[in-house]
Amino acid sequence: MARERDSVYELLKNRLATISDLRSAKSLLFWDQQTYMPGGGVAGRAEQVATLSRLAHQMLTDDETKGLLDASGEPDPSSEEGALLRRALRDYERATKLPAELVAEISRATALAEPDWVTAREESDWRLFAPHLERILDLKREAAEALGYEDHPYDALLDAYEPGAEKARLEVMFKELKEGVLPLIRAVVAKGDGKDRAAPLKGAFGEARQEEFGRAVISAFGYDWERGRQDSSVHPFCINFGPGDVRITTRFDGGWLAPALFGTMHEAGHALYEQGVDPSYARTPLGGGTSMGVHESQSRLWENLVGRSRAFWSHYYPKLREVFSEVLGEIDAREFYGAINVLEPSEIRVEADEVTYNLHILLRFELEVALIEGSLSVADLPAAWNSKMEEYLGVIPKNDSAGVLQDIHWADGLFGYFPTYVIGSVLSVQFFGAALKAHPEIPEETRSGRFPTLLGWLRENIHRHGSRYYPDELVERATGRPLDTAPYLRYLEDKFGELYDL
Ligand code: ZN
Repeated sequence: MARERDSVYELLKNRLATISDLRSAKSLLFWDQQTYMPGGGVAGRAEQVATLSRLAHQMLTDDETKGLLDASGEPDPSSEEGALLRRALRDYERATKLPAELVAEISRATALAEPDWVTAREESDWRLFAPHLERILDLKREAAEALGYEDHPYDALLDAYEPGAEKARLEVMFKELKEGVLPLIRAVVAKGDGKDRAAPLKGAFGEARQEEFGRAVISAFGYDWERGRQDSSVHPFCINFGPGDVRITTRFDGGWLAPALFGTMHEAGHALYEQGVDPSYARTPLGGGTSMGVHESQSRLWENLVGRSRAFWSHYYPKLREVFSEVLGEIDAREFYGAINVLEPSEIRVEADEVTYNLHILLRFELEVALIEGSLSVADLPAAWNSKMEEYLGVIPKNDSAGVLQDIHWADGLFGYFPTYVIGSVLSVQFFGAALKAHPEIPEETRSGRFPTLLGWLRENIHRHGSRYYPDELVERATGRPLDTAPYLRYLEDKFGELYDL
C-alpha cells in the first residue's frame, strides 16, 4: 500500500514537472519579448505563448492528473509531500473551476483592452477605455462565481495572488493604516517649507555608471550572477525559470537617479527570494515564492528598509558621490538621505513615497471592491477616483491620465492584485523586525556594506521554504505573530517624524 502511494506521488511529481517546464518555457518567451525580441516577432510570439499555455492547462486539468490527485488522498501539509499535494490540488481546482471558454474570453477581452487603454491614457480619454472595463468586470464577476467564495466575490479574485487573504481582513488592515498614515501626511504637509528636497536626484547621471553602481550594490546584497543576469526593459521585472536562473530587468534614466537605483534593489529583492528557494523544490508547485504579498515584502525590504536607510548610505554615499562627483559634489549625506525619503502627496502611484503609497492602494482597493460587487458603476469611476484622491491625499488629478487611467492592472484584468503591494510593505517591516531581534548586529553590518546575516535570516526563515507554507503560516512561523500593522506604522512615524522634525 505504501509503495503504491509512493509511485502515485512519483507519477504526479513527474507530471507536475512537465507542466512546470512548459510554464518556464513560456516565461522565457515573455522575458525575450520584453528585452530583445524584434518588433516583428509579436504575432508569432503570441501564438507560441498561447500554445504553451494551452498545453500546460490541458495537462493540469486532464483525467490523468485528476486520477493521480484522487489517488493521493487528503494532503497533510505538515510534511513536504503533503504541502506539495496541497499546492497541486489548489492549482488543479482553480484551473478546473474556470471554464476554458471563460479563460479564453478573459484573455481576448484584456488583449483588446490593452491597446485602447494605452491610447486612452495618452489622450486622457476615459470613454475609449470604459466599455472594455465594463466587459472585463462582467467576466471577472463570472470568474468569481465559478471559483466560489464564502463571503464576497472579491475574495475569490484576491485568492489568486494571496492565498487565504480575505476582503474583510484587508479592510481591518487598511483602516489601521489609514488612521496611522493620514495624520502623519497632514503633519508633514502642514509644515510645508516648499523646498524641492528631491532635486539632488535629478541631473546628468550617466547610465553606464548607474548600472555599474547598481550591480555593485546588489552583488553585496548577495545576488548570484552565476544564477542570474540583468537587462534593460521598459517595465522592470524579475522572472525565474527555476532557482538556477533568476533574472532581473531595469529601466535607466540618464537624467534621474532614483528609478534605476531603487528599481534595481527592488527587483534584486524579488530575485534573492527566488534564488534562495530550496533547490529540491525546482519543477514542483513548491518552487517559487508563496504569494505576491510575501514576494513584495522581500523587494521592499531591500529597497526601503535597507536601501533607503541611513545605515546603508553611511557606507555607500561616499562611493556614490565619488562616482557622480560632478552632480553630487555639493550634496552632503544628510541632504541625500532627505532626497531619497521625500514625503509628498502626488497623483501617480508608482512615483509615490513610502507613506502616501498606502493611500494610493487603499483607494484602488475600495474602488475595485465596489466595482466587483456592483455598488459603483464604470461611468461613475473617474469621479469616485478624484474625490477619494482629494479626500485622502488632498490632490485632484489634473486629468484622467494622471488619475483613473494611470495603471495597467484593470486593463489586464488584475482585480485583487493591488492590495498585495501594501501587504508587502507591512510584512517587510515585520520580517525585518524579526531579523533584527534575532541578530542585533545587522545595522552594524549594513553600515559596513555587508549583508550576510540579514540575507541568512531571510534565507532560513522565508526564502528556502518556497511555497511550502501559505502566507499566514509563513508569517506566523517567521515572526511569531500574524500580519501586524503596528510595527510598520511605528517605522513610518519614527523615520518621517525624524526627517520632518515632527
Ligand atoms: Zn515588486
